[in-house]
Amino acid sequence: MKDNISSRFSQLGGGGEIKIIKECPTCGKGYPEAAINIIEDDSEAQLLHVTCEVCANAILVLIVVSDIGVSSVGMLTDLHASDVVRFRQKTPLDEDDMLQFYSLLHSKKGEIIHYLAEKK
Ligand SMILES: [Zn+2]
Repeated sequence: MKDNISSRFSQLGGGGEIKIIKECPTCGKGYPEAAINIIEDDSEAQLLHVTCEVCANAILVLIVVSDIGVSSVGMLTDLHASDVVRFRQKTPLDEDDMLQFYSLLHSKKGEIIHYLAEKK
């Protein structure tokens, strides 16, 4: 069996995800199972994206299992689940990215808004 948090909790009789996050922190509505997207799931950590079907606010939840127990961190986000997957694969911005952006701002003076709109 694949060694991830989902399988470990399934062995304990639960569902595929840990039932730490039960309701929307914004409106208080309970989350149906279908609202929970498992973004990442390995032996020590699970990353979930959950969208409330009532108020449409979303949260990202990181659950970490270690020898001393289970801990979780949740935060409101405006990212969709697909954005989370996309940004997880990106490398952090570095000095070259900053210089490239600086050069772009100067080369496109006065038209940067139009330039950015074209890039969508
Ligand atoms: Zn809500």
